[in-house]
Amino acid sequence: MHAILIALAMSATTGGVQQTTVRVEAENGQLIGPIVASTRPGFSGKGYVTGFTKEGDKVVMKFTAEPGIYEAFIRYSAPGGKKGYELGVNGHRTSGMFAPTADVFATASAGKVELAAGTNSVEIDKGWGYYDIDYVEFVPAKIDRSLKSLPLNLVDPNAAASAKALFGKLAKTYGSQTLSGQYNDDDSNYIAGSTHRIPAIYGADFMDYSPSRVERNPAPKDLTENAIAKAKSGQLVTMSWHWNAPTDLIDKMLKDKQGKDVDASWYKGFYTNATTFDLSAAIDDPSSKNYKLLLRDIDAIAIQLKKFSDANVPVLWRPLHEADGGWFWWGAKGPQPFVKLWRLMFHRLTEVHKLHNLIWVFTVGDNPAWYPGDAYVDVLGVDAYPSDHSDTLGSTWDRLKKEFDGKKMLAISEFGGVPDIPRMHQFGVEWAYFVSWPGQIKPPGTSISDLSRIYQSKTVKNREQG
Ligand code: CA
Repeated sequence: MHAILIALAMSATTGGVQQTTVRVEAENGQLIGPIVASTRPGFSGKGYVTGFTKEGDKVVMKFTAEPGIYEAFIRYSAPGGKKGYELGVNGHRTSGMFAPTADVFATASAGKVELAAGTNSVEIDKGWGYYDIDYVEFVPAKIDRSLKSLPLNLVDPNAAASAKALFGKLAKTYGSQTLSGQYNDDDSNYIAGSTHRIPAIYGADFMDYSPSRVERNPAPKDLTENAIAKAKSGQLVTMSWHWNAPTDLIDKMLKDKQGKDVDASWYKGFYTNATTFDLSAAIDDPSSKNYKLLLRDIDAIAIQLKKFSDANVPVLWRPLHEADGGWFWWGAKGPQPFVKLWRLMFHRLTEVHKLHNLIWVFTVGDNPAWYPGDAYVDVLGVDAYPSDHSDTLGSTWDRLKKEFDGKKMLAISEFGGVPDIPRMHQFGVEWAYFVSWPGQIKPPGTSISDLSRIYQSKTVKNREQG
């Protein structure tokens, strides 16, 4: 049964239409899997919905509203720890994170959504599951497009003119256009062939220059040189580094606790589960063998970065990404050793190797303990693989903008697919740039018409043609 419940709490006027706050109780929705409960006090209406445990579990709620932009708030409980959720509004899906609660209800903003005249549909899917939903509330919202101007000095006090010029260029379009970007050649060529546009940013990864890989397999012949050639052709360059652990690679097939096969071969050595390398012990003992191996590896990558510097090419440098996920060894021991490693790398590259062509891009999560500090980061990048490529990442944008507006530039440093930049701009979500990860931008994941629509949009800035 689809019940409709509308609460009038506040109102706003958009384009002459009176919008009002709409609260939709989960227990009145169509339940596919979950059940209604009322044991935990503090709920609204007649209860809440619990038991998101199986794939496909969801609650679907139909309701009417005045058309316009609203901010969606979810009343939830997540006593078992933080939980990723999936919200769908009129067919557009977004994912977000419920902060852990005690055995009580809390409210999470899911960002801005568009409601239509007449009947609307909202659904909450299993996501990580094991959360309870009391209601979803839609509060009339305005799009706030304003961005404070950014300080143009980079965190490297001796930053090269080329790096400052690149940052200035990004700052100039920040808020009005989003620069396009793509990792690796095959996908970049596919974009050029399909859309007649060339991404503004070319991305590549230093993984195969990691010394513990070079011990087993020759280093790439011309990966760095190829990226420099892209820069000379007018693209900007971003480099990441899947850093194979310096030593202590397991280098064999393993079984995990559930008895599942884990490939812990040497070439998976950037993953936590493929190495016993202990960052915490290494970073805390500068006299240790493993500390010296960390430096050896940073020095090996410095050789590559120096080639960019010698060619006067600035680099959007994105090392040590997704640390808070814990799946890479540099994030396996918690935030403190990670922050020490980030700072060690910063000082080593800028002071010892005198690399001043770097713009430091930190992959930001939802826990501030991982942040290396304002003095060590130029750009905050979000890595996102939403189930719906039209996800605006609006709740993430709102959260980061609140904290970093006027301080740090925000970007999408990795995306699974091509983000729908025109749609994001419609909602006032205005990342400086995006870079798509390889192997994600072809059908069926992304249609050629979507790819073209996005790459040919006025909200997207590509490499200048010539
Ligand atoms: Ca309720």
